Amino acid sequence: MKLFGVVGFPIGHSSSPAMMNAAFREQGEDAVYVPFAVKPEQFEQAFNGLAALGAVGVNVTIPHKVSAFNWVDQRTPEATSVGAVNTIRFSDDGAIGHNTDVSGWWRSVADHVPTGNPTIEIVGAGGAAMAVLAAISANRPNASVGVIARREEAVQALQHRFIDTIAIDFVPWDVRNEALANANVVIQTTPIGMWPRVDDSPVTDAGVFSPGQVVQDIIYRPRVTNFAKLAMDGGATVVDGLSMLVYQGVDAYEWWLGKKAPVESMFRAVEEHLGTERRES
Ligand code: NAP
Repeated sequence: MKLFGVVGFPIGHSSSPAMMNAAFREQGEDAVYVPFAVKPEQFEQAFNGLAALGAVGVNVTIPHKVSAFNWVDQRTPEATSVGAVNTIRFSDDGAIGHNTDVSGWWRSVADHVPTGNPTIEIVGAGGAAMAVLAAISANRPNASVGVIARREEAVQALQHRFIDTIAIDFVPWDVRNEALANANVVIQTTPIGMWPRVDDSPVTDAGVFSPGQVVQDIIYRPRVTNFAKLAMDGGATVVDGLSMLVYQGVDAYEWWLGKKAPVESMFRAVEEHLGTERRES
């Protein structure tokens, strides 16, 4: 039996075991995907142990993505572009680190992002924003990109990382409404509005949004955030955050196994898992 898993701390709420085990069942794979709660001080022991046990691959989540980047023997261009690893494949040549937040985010929105040089505004300047920027630099290098943040230093760090690929404007938090109103594509990457603070939103006025815009809130708990509701009210096309979650898993599955993933089953498994969580919380 092939061993896969997800390593993080805490890990109890992860939808990945439900999603991946559903995919294995659907395709008749003799494989299992296990959640591993590993504290930061036990990182090396745990990852060396997984390699020694013959694990085929693992996902890596908070707080281990940067440690995993430093630990692996080789890195894919996606991992190098963000300096973080969320997927590892163990091989005879050592551990290879990849980042499917980059490719998974792109798959979740690609059909909706205009070609050429669209104006893209990103709300937030953390780890998820970095994955989004890496995908934009690879797929829409001529886009006009703004990052809306409360701290300019955070945006300067992103400008520095992507200095050779895309120009990024810093947009102060106070003028976010105007920047959002002028964007073709808006990606919300802060935790504002995430369960349990579901009444919060980075903006409070649906008039910011308009038909023709594409808006994604990458939060998936709740499935539809207040920010997404306002965008719908304004007439924008809305893409949910659950699709990013599923596609980062789809890309990991396909990279590990070298075959197409059962995307529909994976969506269903995550939707069911999040529904169960809601009933329990
Ligand atoms: P992170 O690295 O901590 O970054 C969060 C960003 O949001 C930072 O720029 C932070 O600014 C900003 N922020 C937080 N609270 C704010 C506030 N009240 N006002 C203004 N800015 C605020 O977190 P992350 O890893 O990027 O994750 C962010 C969110 O994305 C989480 O909700 C996570 O669940 C979600 N996510 C979803 C997926 C998916 O697959 N759908 C994948 C990854 C992440 P400061 O630096 O100033 O605090």
